[in-house]
Order: sequence, then C-alpha cells, then structure tokens
Amino acid sequence: MHILGNQALRSRLQEALRTSPPAPAYLFLGPRGVGKALTATWMAARLLCSGPEPPCGLCPACRKVHSGNHPDVLRIDRVEGKASVGIDDVREGISAVQLRPYEGGYRFWIFSEAERLTGEAQSALLKTLEEPPGHLVLILVAGGEDALLPTVTSRCRILRFGPVDVQAVADSLLEHGVSPERAAVAARISSGSPGLALELVGTGEIWDLRESALDLASGLPGSQTWQALEVAASLEALKTGSSDPKADLTRVLDNLMSWFRDALCLSVGGDEGLLVNVDRLDTLRVLASSSSPRSLDRALQAILEAFDHLHRNVQPRFLLQRLCLELSRVGA
Ligand SMILES: [Zn+2]
Repeated sequence: MHILGNQALRSRLQEALRTSPPAPAYLFLGPRGVGKALTATWMAARLLCSGPEPPCGLCPACRKVHSGNHPDVLRIDRVEGKASVGIDDVREGISAVQLRPYEGGYRFWIFSEAERLTGEAQSALLKTLEEPPGHLVLILVAGGEDALLPTVTSRCRILRFGPVDVQAVADSLLEHGVSPERAAVAARISSGSPGLALELVGTGEIWDLRESALDLASGLPGSQTWQALEVAASLEALKTGSSDPKADLTRVLDNLMSWFRDALCLSVGGDEGLLVNVDRLDTLRVLASSSSPRSLDRALQAILEAFDHLHRNVQPRFLLQRLCLELSRVGA
C-alpha cells in the first residue's frame, strides 16, 4: 500500500507500534485528501496482519482490511445527504467494540469525518474513552479539532498530517495517466492534497466546471453591464451534479479566486512558480499587463465578499450578479 506524503509521520508510527502496544485512541488531524483515512487503514492492517512483515498486503487479514470486510474494523463514514454523525450511529458502535475481536488482537473503530460527530455523540463516545476495552483502537479522522470536545481530544494521541509536496502530487497524477499539463494544474489547485487532485481530474465534471468558469472569468474585465449579467447567469448554471447545493458555487468562486490571484501575482512581478493556472499563462499575462494591482486586489476583495454572502445564504443569482459587475471593472 503506497501512501503519498507524510512519510516521516508514518515511520514514527510504525516504530512506535514495533516497541509498544497502540494507544486506545488516536486523532488524525490535517487538510482533506492528504492520506489520513488511508493511514488509518494502513494502521489497522499493520496490527491485524498475520504476515511476516506487517502490513504485508497479501495475507487474508490485510486483504479484508483493504476491501473493507474485516470483522474487527468498524468504520463510521458520513451518510450521503446527512450533515452529522449522531448518537444512534455511536451507540451501535459502543456495544460492538465491547465484544472480543473476532480474528485479530484488536478491534478498530474509525470515524472518517469526526468533526461531524454531534456533541451528544461525542459525549457518548467519551464514556468508552474513559474506560476503553483493552483491545480497542479508536481513530478519529478530522480536518480540525474545533468541532471536537476538549475532553475527547485530550484522551487521543494526536497525529498532525501536512500537505504533500506539489511536485510529488503532480508526479503521482502522471502515473495515473493524467496529461502533464492537467497534472501540473490539478496538483497546484489542490495545494498538495493528492485526494483533492485526484477528485479534480477523476471526474470530468469538476474539470469541465473549472474550464468553463475560467473561460467566463477571462471575458469579464472591461465588459459591459449586460455582458457581466450574462456571465453571472452562465456561472450560476455551471453544475457537476453534486448533492450539496453550495458545492458547485464554492468551486466557481474558488476558480475565480485562483484566477485573479494569479493575475495579481503576475502584475506585481511575482514568481511564476507560485501560479496555479499554469495552463493559461498567455491569457493571464494579458490580464496582468492590462490591469492595475489595485483593481485586481479589489477583485479579490469582491470574491471574498461573495464567499461571505454564500455562507450567509444570499441568493446565488444576486451574489453572482453583484460579483460579476465588480469584476467587469477590473482594468487600469
Ligand atoms: Zn498481512
């Protein structure tokens, strides 16, 4: 099992597991898509493996862990369409983890998005953490610890995952058969998250949304009012089929942000190595040379404001119209 990045952290974990039994509870913290959940799977395989060099990846235990069929690995993933993991999901697990392991020496209980546990669910979990059965290894995987009770986090051994080197992400995309140009852009957009980069190139819809959003954004500076309003309507119509109604608009705004940020970077003579949209350098150079840094900075402020409006549930149409009118004023 090859996991990209955070190698030193996994080596330390491997070394710790060689010399002492696992802690009853771990908290894996870090940005999305950098291998936290994969490392939880790796750890389960490491401790349940029956091969000579665990995790061997070949023995029946390893195979079952990787295919999600090991009876001693209980995984709580978020249910599609449900915003949180509630007390009922946790209660079921609490009785399950009290049982002796079926096959291995440990029972794993892995929460893939622990920040979505309700306060009530965390309180229920706390009781198990106060007196954990000796065979339990609980792993909470989370983007941050703000949504977790301090009484829960204080009982966990915390491992902090960092972003992966952008070039390493691009190289791994190349190995997946992604074109070099697309791999370079996806790795940069993902800010070193192999999971996000794969998501970006994996489904055509997300990449297509990016292409359309940037095509539309390129036409905005210097456009007439009616043209800006047309662009707003076109941006609103961009969809990937996501079940989260805000996800696509967030993607549109992310793309506009990276576009105008790149232009600002170029207009002040910044390092081209810092740019995200390296496949559209020519268009970016034209925008940067015809726009003042001040007007590009105003564009970024307008996009930040649009994000804020989105969080406060302002109508997408209103939010995009206002934003596009502001972006049409970008220029000298
Ligand atoms: Zn094995």
